[in-house]
Amino acid sequence: MLNETAVKLGKTRSTIREIFEYGNKRAAEVGRENIFDFSIGNPNVPAPDAVQDIIRELVNTEDPAKLHGYTSAQGAPENRKAIADDLNKRFGTNYNENQLYLTVGAAASLTISLNALTSSKDDEFIVFAPYFPEYLVFIEQGAGAKAVVIPPREQDFQIDFDTFIDKINENTKGVIINSPSNPSGVVYTNETIKKLAEILKDKSNEYNHPIYLLSDEPYREIVYDVEVPFVAKEYDRTIVCYSYSKSLSLAGERIGYILVPNVDKFDEIYAAVCGAGRMLGFVNAPSLFQKVIAKCTGMTSDLSVYAENRKLLLEGFEKMGYSCVKPDGAFYMFPKSLEPDDRAFCERAKKYDLLLVPGSDFGAKGHVRISYCVKTETIKRALPLFEKLAEEYRK
Ligand code: PLP
Repeated sequence: MLNETAVKLGKTRSTIREIFEYGNKRAAEVGRENIFDFSIGNPNVPAPDAVQDIIRELVNTEDPAKLHGYTSAQGAPENRKAIADDLNKRFGTNYNENQLYLTVGAAASLTISLNALTSSKDDEFIVFAPYFPEYLVFIEQGAGAKAVVIPPREQDFQIDFDTFIDKINENTKGVIINSPSNPSGVVYTNETIKKLAEILKDKSNEYNHPIYLLSDEPYREIVYDVEVPFVAKEYDRTIVCYSYSKSLSLAGERIGYILVPNVDKFDEIYAAVCGAGRMLGFVNAPSLFQKVIAKCTGMTSDLSVYAENRKLLLEGFEKMGYSCVKPDGAFYMFPKSLEPDDRAFCERAKKYDLLLVPGSDFGAKGHVRISYCVKTETIKRALPLFEKLAEEYRK
């Protein structure tokens, strides 16, 4: 007898993976350049040259036994210190290295934090649609808690506070937010964050136990003309789950961190994070990339490509009649599908080799996710096809 949950998860491919496979099949038939794959969030902009230079320097100068050996489970202290110093410089905070735990990316930051917090199968974590679909797996199958979904606030994808307040109860252990968002690209406003913080403070008092905010921030640095509020400054029970996958285009290298707030019984919370990392068998984050990120604080990949792609798509969509909440960050947008059935719409888009992901997968029917971390040339060639698709619905 095997773990049935694991077997089931292992057998079901996510829609994004299905589309990715379909794209490969079509590419073999009609050529890769004729496939307009907007399905996957793999940064197409390379990591900055500085990252490559630093890797070469480290490999050429460091003692290999140390460079590739184990580090402390939470990451080498000097690497954690470099991150704390950078956060303090940028956000006017006062963190130290003992509040950081280095991970293999945001997915690990989330699973470790969720496992650290969950003490009963009745514990609930609130997520806001449209959400990153893996949240449900991480909460329910990964941590054995319950996911409570708040439906989308369609007009702007900010938080529907009435429903949110309604769903908080004595079992609420935490809330996950993701701003800038995958899939909508929406950035929560200062007002939203302040109100969220106020409610969480009140509700923690009302239920006489802390409610933690897990702020999933892989896209924090990818924004266009707006500021992303630093959430941890607004609510002191925020656990920041960060990753360099997108900001430095290091998705395959697996590196990120958890920032543990100095609140409540800090020593216990930090120990729970270390213990959860241990339970899940993470051992330590990759040693080489710990050093790389410590030396690359404050850098990002060249975000101008995403900015250009976003501009072209938004302008094009507006002319064609696609309606879309303005995405101020990440490299995703989440327009309405031109028929209520988003899956049918995505099927129809396939006729033009436009590969889009149905919004239903993110808990928001009637939308599609477009991941625009692709070549600008791809966007330019795809726009006439989006127009042809829209034309079908005008008839
Ligand atoms: N959270 C969100 C919202 C994401 O979009 C992703 C990846 O796409 C992750 C977490 C996982 O990121 P990582 O590659 O750092 O594990």
